[in-house]
Formats: sequence, structure tokens, C-alpha cells
Amino acid sequence: MMNSLPLAAAALLLASVAAQAQTMQVSPNGARASIAGSAETFTGTVTVTPLFTASEHSNAGGGLVEFTPGARSHWHTHPAGQTLIVTAGTGWVQEVGGEKVAIRPGDVVWTPPGVKHWHGATAESSMSHIAITPVHDGSAVTWLEPVTDEQYR
Ligand code: MN
Repeated sequence: MMNSLPLAAAALLLASVAAQAQTMQVSPNGARASIAGSAETFTGTVTVTPLFTASEHSNAGGGLVEFTPGARSHWHTHPAGQTLIVTAGTGWVQEVGGEKVAIRPGDVVWTPPGVKHWHGATAESSMSHIAITPVHDGSAVTWLEPVTDEQYR
């Protein structure tokens, strides 16, 4: 009976319950459904696979984004910045007013809050990256206009 437990035993029981709420979690590859990148936010064929969402412990969400050759995001900004980790292929990133920069597997790209930019594949190669994006006031991204073919080439 709960009432008859000595305090130390009760404390151990509570500690055990708390520990159980903190067990490791493995989300198997393939368990999170991939979705097609919306034409309202991407040009070309893009596949987005959710990896993790913001939680009480971390305010960033993560996703794998796969771009086919020629595919790219629209121009956009992130209210709390974004980190990209390139996992495959060759891509381009560009911030407004700057040149396109080639990115390759293992490259890590930091975009500061509010900097207008885009990322995507090159014209000839696919590119995949993991995007880690903090949420600020419920938003992780502000989408803007498409990257035109003139801007892309
Ligand atoms: Mn971005």
C-alpha cells in the first residue's frame, strides 16, 4: 500500500517513474513519412523527411531535404537562423547581394537570423542536406518569392 511505504522507498519509486519518462527514443529510418516540397516554397522536385521536432529541451526542429538537379527553395529568412549539414551531392547556397556558393557533403552552413537566402541543388547534380531550424514565436521560416531561372543560373 502506498501509505505504508517508508519515505525513502517512496522517493526511490518517484525517481524510478521520473527516469522512465526520460528513456532514450529511437525513431527508425522510414518511420517518418516523406512529403513532397510544396510548389509554394520550392522550385522543382524536392522531398522533405522530418527528423525531429522542437521540444521542451530544444527549440529546434530538424529535417532531411533532398533536391533533384535544378531544384531549390524560394528566397526566405529564418527568425532564429538555420544550420544546414550537407549529406549528399553538390548544391548552392546564396544570400541576397552575394554570390552562389557551392556546398558538398560534410559542409555546414549557418544562416543568421533575418538573412534573405536560398539553398538547393546545382543545375547538374542533386543535393541533400539536413536542416536544423530553431522556432521563434512559433515560426521557423518566412517564405518569400521564387528564385528565378536568371538568378539561379
Ligand atoms: Mn534556409
